[in-house]
Amino acid sequence: MSEGALMRLEREITGCRLCPRLVQWREEVAAVKRAAFADEEYWGRPVPAFGDSRAGLVVVGLAPAAHGGNRTGRMFTGDRSGDWLWAALWKAGLANQPVSRDRGDGLEVSGVWVTAVVRCAPPGNRPTTEERDTCVRYLARELEVLEDARAFLALGGFAYEALCRLTRTRPRPSFSHGAQVRLADGRWVVCSYHPSQQNTFTGRLTREMLDDAVGAAVALANEA
Ligand code: SF4
Repeated sequence: MSEGALMRLEREITGCRLCPRLVQWREEVAAVKRAAFADEEYWGRPVPAFGDSRAGLVVVGLAPAAHGGNRTGRMFTGDRSGDWLWAALWKAGLANQPVSRDRGDGLEVSGVWVTAVVRCAPPGNRPTTEERDTCVRYLARELEVLEDARAFLALGGFAYEALCRLTRTRPRPSFSHGAQVRLADGRWVVCSYHPSQQNTFTGRLTREMLDDAVGAAVALANEA
């Protein structure tokens, strides 16, 4: 039953045009392209979630990257943030390979669902408040359908705040890397800095820190 609901939701998401600024941006990026990907056909549409519909763990990011998910059509695929995330998920035994380059690369996952608060690549990786509030409906519906989800890994404060809002968790504890918060609906969220280049290049987030956050979230998903 959840498989059918998720497929219907995916169709709805990939056809969405509710945010004029993001529709214009995602399509412009897909038309102009980055020189390194000039021979590729960009996805250029909202990016659906990816994963195991029976997952106990849900990874929540901010939004697809302009030349990552907006190019490949899969979350955290084809960019450096994805390189870090999939390596960590592979080490935790949740993915069959440590890299994800395109939608036909053979990646398979078990026990994890990878999604984002906003489904279209935003300029500067910064959706407006209105765009966030418009798109979060899709995350809300995923969370309703993913009946086995028991823990979240929030990649960045944006994802963490969205999860707290959706679950009406008040007061909201402060975001800090490694924090483990029990949401109002009884599920757990582990906070991690986002594996953006801004964090990984500066050493704010190391691979060990991300591995530890994934491990903590897996443990909570398994024990709850
Ligand atoms: S960001 Fe979300 S709500 Fe806005 S157009 Fe994209 S899919 Fe639709």
